[in-house]
Amino acid sequence: MNISTQELAADHTERFGQQGTSFSAPARVNLIGEHTDYTGGFVLPLAIGFETTATISPRTDRKAVLYSSNFDEQVEYELDAMPQKGRGHWSDYGMGVVWSLAKDDIKTSGFNLSVEGNVPLGSGLSSSASVEVAVAMALLSLAETEIPGEKIATLCRRAENDFVGAPSGIMDQFVITNAVAEKALLLDCRSLEFYLLPLRPDIRIVIANSMVKHSIAEGAYRDRREEVEAGQAVLSKMNPQIKLLRDATMDDLKQARGRMSDASYRRCRHIITENARVLEARSALFGGDMRKLGDLLFAAHISMRDDFEASAPEVDKLVDLARSLPGCIGSRITGGGFGGCTVNLVEAQYADNFAEQLKLRYKDAAGIEAEIYVCEAVDGAVARAKAGE
Ligand code: ADP
Ligand code: MG
Repeated sequence: MNISTQELAADHTERFGQQGTSFSAPARVNLIGEHTDYTGGFVLPLAIGFETTATISPRTDRKAVLYSSNFDEQVEYELDAMPQKGRGHWSDYGMGVVWSLAKDDIKTSGFNLSVEGNVPLGSGLSSSASVEVAVAMALLSLAETEIPGEKIATLCRRAENDFVGAPSGIMDQFVITNAVAEKALLLDCRSLEFYLLPLRPDIRIVIANSMVKHSIAEGAYRDRREEVEAGQAVLSKMNPQIKLLRDATMDDLKQARGRMSDASYRRCRHIITENARVLEARSALFGGDMRKLGDLLFAAHISMRDDFEASAPEVDKLVDLARSLPGCIGSRITGGGFGGCTVNLVEAQYADNFAEQLKLRYKDAAGIEAEIYVCEAVDGAVARAKAGE
């Protein structure tokens, strides 16, 4: 799934009359830990072999010129008259990074930037963070500035939250920046400490794209966050030691039940039990106990579906179908919800059959052609830049 860097470099030279330097960033899938990042909890994602490449060259004037081959469009901005907010355009993701770097006094000189990605857009595999991180790597190289991977991730998250206007947590940018091949990354979203956990070579991670994204997604995502924050506020009031939902136990939540809406209670229950599942998943990965990990994935799906109410009938269908296929160890919805993809753990020898059968049966059941990707855990943007990729 790699994009040919030579071709990209040649396209950049032809378009801008100057040789560029290329940086790539992968996409990601979250194995477990959904909606836990923005309440300071735990997530367990990995980087996967789709990628976005950003090729950059300097300009002598103060223009930022951006081209995306995915949109086949070129746009220009004046760096001295920078917008302070996005305008609902693909270039917001790149300009948001320029804006966010400037907030930390990392000044950008004029540049030409061409972007190309093979990450499916809007499918929950985080093409947005992939673009942001690739662009950040390119801009930092132009500014001859080195900053730690953790910082790159937080700068990119700020671009997405405050410039683009999407209220995402830190997970996507963090794993896309800091992932390491053949490993999953357990992230403590409060301290940003992370641990790399080995994935067994006899297990494949298979992603099934339902090809459905329900239009309620954006509004519902905001509602869920509000319900969670309301519940968190009740818990903090009850016990000031609970700064974030991550600090609360199920006993705390039960005690506070009468003081919050039923929706808040169930959203918080999802997050508290999900944090516990992520930590159990860490132990399962350490011990190589794939059955245990698979069971945690199934349980996480049910919690997203029933407590967080963020699944979709098509995605539930994919999980049910997956469960009945040989070699399937675990399956659940991945990403923010209301459509998008499932992540499946499948015994390697069954992976191709699983992909084929799941596609056929989903077509029969839902009348939709799913896209199925058999994935490997790949390096994040920092490891790629170090390896000169
Ligand atoms: P997801 O992150 O799940 O793929 P988002 O809606 O968060 O979905 O981000 C998708 C948006 O990111 C696209 O609509 C586009 O604006 C931007 N984007 C992603 N990939 C590219 C690309 N290669 N070139 C330009 N913009 C891109
Ligand atoms: Mg996104």
